[in-house]
Order: sequence, then structure tokens, then C-alpha cells
Amino acid sequence: MEKTLPPVGKLWLVGAGPGDPDLLTLRAVRLLASADLVVHDGLVGDGVLALISPHVERISVAKQRSRHTMKQELINELLVREALTGKQVVRLKGGDPFIFGRGGEELDAARDAGVACEVVPGITAAMGCAAQAGLPLTHRDDASAVSFVAGQCKDLSDQDWSGLAGHGRTLVIYMGIATASAIADKLIADGVSPELPVAVIERGTTVDARVLRTLLADLGDLVTREAVKSPALIIVGKVAARADALDCLGAPGVAEKLGNFI
Ligand code: SAH
Repeated sequence: MEKTLPPVGKLWLVGAGPGDPDLLTLRAVRLLASADLVVHDGLVGDGVLALISPHVERISVAKQRSRHTMKQELINELLVREALTGKQVVRLKGGDPFIFGRGGEELDAARDAGVACEVVPGITAAMGCAAQAGLPLTHRDDASAVSFVAGQCKDLSDQDWSGLAGHGRTLVIYMGIATASAIADKLIADGVSPELPVAVIERGTTVDARVLRTLLADLGDLVTREAVKSPALIIVGKVAARADALDCLGAPGVAEKLGNFI
């Protein structure tokens, strides 16, 4: 008697890049056309979502800072359950799945359930946004180290950022807009120069992108004055002066001081 094999599903953790659909990998594009189900979050832009074949089922699990439409545990359960029914499940995540994307937790959930899982890297926001702004994250004259840090945490004083910003370093802060002022105060209290250049990149790589430059001491005011909204990145370091950006003219002396860095 012929045996029926159970359907074999698979989970793909796919990076969608920072917004511009042209920055997707070829593998991501192929998977968006051939998957059975795409589960995506709110960071994934409309241009990328438009590449999902109309025959492919899709579920949004968009999250916001203070409101989770679906808890991570429920997302993990959903991904595993659907893959176990035999579907090719694409979990589409903004940027790279393993940079502040909780992709590691989804991979663990798949492994625990015995579901095959493959990761497709994406261009993380730091790289995409910096490239678009003409801001080299490293530069032989200015920075030989880069750090990616999450700025969204209840108590910044719990975090040890010493040595991440300052001479020869570039610090890229994800999810830091709500705490920008506290971040600047903390860095300055740790001994970082208040006159270090900073770039803020909002909705980088999209048609609505805004790139602003200022000095560390003015960061909190800049975010308020310009009503900067998430998703946005804060880049602290000498290289930020090289960004092709609008200077924050509202703060006296900023443009001249930034000019001195280049
Ligand atoms: N996995 C994502 C990061 C998720 S955390 C990645 O690799 O890029 C979400 C944070 O990423 C946002 O708060 C913001 O700081 C940053 N971000 C994502 N897309 C962005 C964009 N297009 N422009 C600026 N910042 C972005």
C-alpha cells in the first residue's frame, strides 16, 4: 500500500530592507512570488508589499511602540502552525531579520518545533539609510568602528554605552527617537563631546526620507523642533558631518561647527 507523506513546509525569515523595494535581494523577490503565506510587520513598505503575488495569502502582524497588535509568542506560534500544515511561510521583516528584528526568537521557535527554517538577509536600516545620505559609517580618517544600539529601553541608565561613541567611532541608534534627548544627555555625561556631529534619518530610502544634521547637544531639541517620527535612525560620530543633509539651522552656530569636521 502506498504511504502518503506529510506535507513538508518551511519557514523563511526574509529581510525586506529599509523601505525602497529596489533594495530587496533577488531571493526575497523570488520568495514573495512563490510563497504560500507572507506574514509581515508594519515596517515593510508598500512598494515591497506590492511585490507579493496576489495569489499569496498575507497576514499583517504590525507592531507599534506602545501597542502590540500581536504578541511575539503568538507570532511564533502562527509561523510554526502554518509551516507544519505544509506551507512555504515567508516571515517578511523590515531591514535584516537579525538586527533588532526578533528573528532569532522566530528561528528558535522553528527549531524547537522541528520546522525547517532559512534566513534571507536584508539591508539593515543603518546601512541603507547611511548609503542614501552619502554618509560612510566607517572612513579611514574618521571612524574604524561602528556600533548598532537599541535606544528603546525603559531605563537608559541601565545600559553601558561607554566607549561606543567618540573618537574614531560611529554609533547608530535604532528606535531612539522617543528617548533622543535622554540619549544625548547620557552620552555627554559619559564624556562624549556635545559638539560631536549627529545625523537623524527619518524614513530612509523612501520617497519621504528626511536627513537632518546637528550637534549632539542639540539632538533632543532637533527631534522636537522638526517633529521627527519613527522609523528614524540617529547616527553619532564625525562621519555624520559628511551626510548629504539639511543642517539644523534653528540652532546657532551648528552649520559652521559641522563644516569644521570635514
Ligand atoms: N530589523 C530592522 C530594525 C528593526 S527595529 C533593520 O534591520 O533595519 C526598528 C527601527 O529600525 C526603527 O525604530 C528605526 O530606528 C529603524 N529603521 C527601520 N527602517 C528605517 C528607515 N527606513 N529609516 C530610518 N530608520 C529605520
